[in-house]
Amino acid sequence: MKKTIAIIGSGFSALAASCYLAQQGNNVTIYEKNDSIGGRSRQFKKDGFTFDMGPSWYWMPDVFERFFNDFNKKTADFYELIKLNPAYSVYFGIDDFINIYDNLEEIKVTFENIEKGSGEKLQAFINQAKSNYDIAIKDLVYRPGISPLELITPETALKLNQFFGSVSNDIRKKFKNERLIQILEFPVLFLGAKPSKTPSFYNFMNYADFGLGTWHPKTGMFDVVRGIEKLALELGVRIETNASIEKIIVENKTATGIIINGKSIKADVVLSGADYHHTETLLDEEHRVYSEKYWDSRVFAPSSLLFFVGFNKKIQNVTHHALFFDVDFNQHAADIYDNPKWPEAPLFYANFPSKTDESAAPNGMESGFFLIPLAPGIEDTEELRETYFEKIITRFETLTQQEIKNSIIFKKSFCKNDFVTDYNAYKGNAYGMANTLLQTAFLRPKLKSKKVRNLYFTGQLTVPGPGVPPALISGKLVAELIQKSIRS
Ligand SMILES: Cc1cc2nc3c(=O)[nH]c(=O)nc-3n(C[C@H](O)[C@H](O)[C@H](O)COP(=O)(O)OP(=O)(O)OC[C@H]3O[C@@H](n4cnc5c(N)ncnc54)[C@H](O)[C@@H]3O)c2cc1C
Repeated sequence: MKKTIAIIGSGFSALAASCYLAQQGNNVTIYEKNDSIGGRSRQFKKDGFTFDMGPSWYWMPDVFERFFNDFNKKTADFYELIKLNPAYSVYFGIDDFINIYDNLEEIKVTFENIEKGSGEKLQAFINQAKSNYDIAIKDLVYRPGISPLELITPETALKLNQFFGSVSNDIRKKFKNERLIQILEFPVLFLGAKPSKTPSFYNFMNYADFGLGTWHPKTGMFDVVRGIEKLALELGVRIETNASIEKIIVENKTATGIIINGKSIKADVVLSGADYHHTETLLDEEHRVYSEKYWDSRVFAPSSLLFFVGFNKKIQNVTHHALFFDVDFNQHAADIYDNPKWPEAPLFYANFPSKTDESAAPNGMESGFFLIPLAPGIEDTEELRETYFEKIITRFETLTQQEIKNSIIFKKSFCKNDFVTDYNAYKGNAYGMANTLLQTAFLRPKLKSKKVRNLYFTGQLTVPGPGVPPALISGKLVAELIQKSIRS
């Protein structure tokens, strides 16, 4: 039976869910508070420069392909993908960096040159990571997180010990060189927790990195948003922007609609792709499942300080993605997770999309994106942002041996307060709730409300977790649950 479904938000999870729900014949409308769609993956354009405002690493291309295949389409019908080579560079000192190339054979050579015997060890490690990836994709991530039994399959039973060790310990047992360790610990940072708190099973992210590669949609991650939007519109989804939901209407313990600008809109099902915590504040307290205490006790992925910078010249000695790991990783991690404060010496990440896509900056110029991970809920002022911009740009100049400050045409910052204002993000988190052992699968906030009928959730605070591929999967999972309940 055709239902009217109101979806809150237009991030990847909401967009994905809208496609599946419309494909199933429902009458679907997306309501987005901002003036453009994409959520954390919005686009920012200024003076001929184009920036993705959030994600820039296109990993796990198979998940994107599978999403479009569900609609008898392929990614190539919507955007062109470029495999980056080098995938990325990691800086450890002045003019001292390691390039990660786009195939395992070359990466093994890089490892071997740094630590004798590590090439073969890397092969064994990646074989194990691939086996975990296959199990994760086949048996784990496409499960709705309803019961612990979902996690028990003949394959996962054999890997049980890997849920109790940490990625960090596992890597340290095999590799001794600190640089190689840092490179191997990098991929699980996408899951939002410290590598020492991330189960070793999640080393499947290392296969995503070295095995599947780093891709770039030709004109940026926003190509993917545009692609899914096109698909959604073809399927009949309606999208309204500048539509901030003020309240979810509940009658008789059943969601019956939403309120926007004081106006009630009826719906048979309400699905929220906005941050889970925020969505529950749109309900009266008696209808909320998770308390403030619950949220406060969760491990959240970091917030971030971002800068979008237009340079009036080409930046030298960097590739598309560059990681600056020239300072103490553990100290910065402690400043995020253990004793939250602004890090004295922050690690940072920079990307230059115009290295791959000329349209991202005017001719002869460069668009630069800089990111410092920060503790969620941290103090955020203009002065702090400026101090840290100065810190990282000075370090960037030293490490890459060039002057760039005088070539800045403009810069725009985005930090914790903006995550709260623009996305209603809990404590200004950037990547949602971390995937630790106790926050995995059925231990995450549920896709379906336990207190309000016909109310559902999707996105990076529920299953499977943070990142664009998980957001697409989350949209699929919740659409399946909704459809099941419509049919029953
Ligand atoms: C800086 C940054 C870098 C990242 N890098 C990567 C990366 O390289 N690779 C990767 O895979 N992932 C990356 N991520 C993570 C990835 O972007 C997210 O996991 C994913 O985009 C989250 O999608 P979502 O659908 O859960 O939520 P969101 O994108 O947050 O969407 C939620 C939407 O709900 C809207 N909303 C909120 N409240 C309301 C309301 N009351 N009414 C109406 N609408 C509302 C918001 O405006 C927003 O549009 C990054 C994230 C950030 C922030």
